[in-house]
Order: sequence, then C-alpha cells, then structure tokens
Amino acid sequence: MAGRFADKSVIITGAGSGLGQATAQRLASDGAGLVLVDMNAEGLDATKKLILDTAPEAKVELVTADVTKEEDVKKYVDTAVSTFGAIDGFFNNAGIEGKQNLTEDFGIEEFSKVVAVNLTGVFLGMQAVLKQMHEQGHGSIVNTASVGGIRGVGNQSGYAASKHGVVGLTRNSAREYGQFGVNINAIAPGAIMTAMVENSLRQLDPENPEEAGKQFVSVNPMKRFGKPEEVAGLVSFLLSEDAGFINGTVVPVDGGQHAMY
Ligand code: NAD
Repeated sequence: MAGRFADKSVIITGAGSGLGQATAQRLASDGAGLVLVDMNAEGLDATKKLILDTAPEAKVELVTADVTKEEDVKKYVDTAVSTFGAIDGFFNNAGIEGKQNLTEDFGIEEFSKVVAVNLTGVFLGMQAVLKQMHEQGHGSIVNTASVGGIRGVGNQSGYAASKHGVVGLTRNSAREYGQFGVNINAIAPGAIMTAMVENSLRQLDPENPEEAGKQFVSVNPMKRFGKPEEVAGLVSFLLSEDAGFINGTVVPVDGGQHAMY
C-alpha cells in the first residue's frame, strides 16, 4: 500500500480498544502492515473490521495475547517476523488504570496487578522487540506512559509507579539502542476519551460520570477531552522516518495539562 508506512510493519498492543485501535486505523491508512495484539479477541476483531471497512487491502494479523506473559509476547513477535520479515515499528501500549484509592488503602494485589500490565508488560515487549530490531539494525518504539508518568495525579499508586517506570525504561533503552539505529520514545497522554477514561469517571462519580467529566476538563487549558485520533497522529509521526532523530523523549499529548502542575 502507498503511504508513509508503505512496506513497513508495526506491532500494536492494546489494539482492541481506545488508543491502540485508533492508531491501528491510522497506520493502516498510512500503508502499514499490522500485527494487532490484545487479550480481548472481540476487540481485535472489531479493530480489524474497522480497518478493512476503509482500507480493504490492508494486511492485518491478530494475536490474542496477555502482555504480562513472556510466551505470549514471543508469540506476537514471532508472528510479526514470520509475516513481515522485520519489525519496523512497535506501539507498546496495552495498559490498565486500576482502582483509585489513597496509598494506604491501595493494596498490594491491586498494585501488583497494575504494575504487571503497565510496566512488566512494556518491559517484556521491549526486550523481545529490541532483540529483533538490534539484529535488523533499525526500528522505532513508542511506549505509552501517561501524564500520570510525569506528574503526581493522586489516588493512583500502581498507575503512577508503572507509568513513571515506563518513562525510565524508555530513557534507559534509548541510550542503549540509539547506536544500533533504533529510536525509542514515550507518549504521555492526558485525558483521552476511551473506555479507560469512561471507567475512571464512573469511579470518580458513580451516580453522575458525565458531571465528573465536565469538572475534569474544566481545569484543562483546552477545556475538553482529547480524541484517540489525536494520539494516533502523534504515534504515527514518532514511528515514522520524520522522527528518526527523536530519541529518549516523552511527548505529552494532553491539551497542556502537564504545564499546569
Ligand atoms: P482501553 O481500555 O480503551 O484499551 C486498553 C486495551 O489494552 C484494551 O483493549 C485491553 O483489553 C488491553 N489490555 C489490557 N491489559 C492487557 C494485557 N494484559 N494484555 C493484552 N492486552 C491488554 O484504554 P486506552 O485509553 O486506549 O489506554 C491505552 C494506553 O494508554 C494504556 O497504557 C493507558 O494507560 C494509556 N493512557 C490512556 C489515557 C487515556 O486518557 N485514555 C491517558 C494516559 C495514558
């Protein structure tokens, strides 16, 4: 397919919903061959259908996998290499928010669960994909951190620890792999309207999540939620050759929320 990602292959985790789904649609329209990964098989099917509705010639492989399991990670990496021969881009994005609570009430189970998906899952993906990118001598990775990975948001011990950890992993590996032709960056989204944020608003105000949403965005400089497509545009840029000399950065996409703290 013609486009910015013609003849390129990209793996996207968390592709069954939200930011991963929107990015899959964007990259497919830019010509990428895709390996879409999620633990939710129905979500993956829905994403593939959305892509094929607008880009019927797109090449899309689906892998149902849990990013916290090393054997599942191997499965999605092997699928990408056997299908496309190389991995040009990796959007390392699957994540969960976890329950909101004060630190003293957060609980080790919840903490461990969130860290397993958001941090260990991102590490396992980087470990396997970087081995391949090192061998092939090129590649780009975008890890999904969060505004909660560069600022204190509150009531999110597991999320904060894991997303700050994603920023650390990004900087650390960017230093290691720049010399091998691989660039690694993170994005720090603010509140983007996806299933995760809908769930978060229900936690803030179970009776009236819409009102919680209005209050939430009232302090944002742009006074609105972001759209998944706005994140997809950033990821498309960071994975493209236009961003080839951008390495080890964390790019906020949050309407200016990070400037307020
Ligand atoms: P979402 O809930 O819409 O999508 C997340 C996807 O990840 C789901 O399809 C889910 O099934 C998948 N997933 C969860 N655990 C998994 C696992 N163990 N293995 C495989 N897949 C798994 O959420 P989203 O808003 O699209 O979030 C995507 C990423 O963006 C997350 O890392 C999230 O922390 C981050 N983020 C989102 C926002 C936002 O406002 N939406 C803000 C900052 C950061």
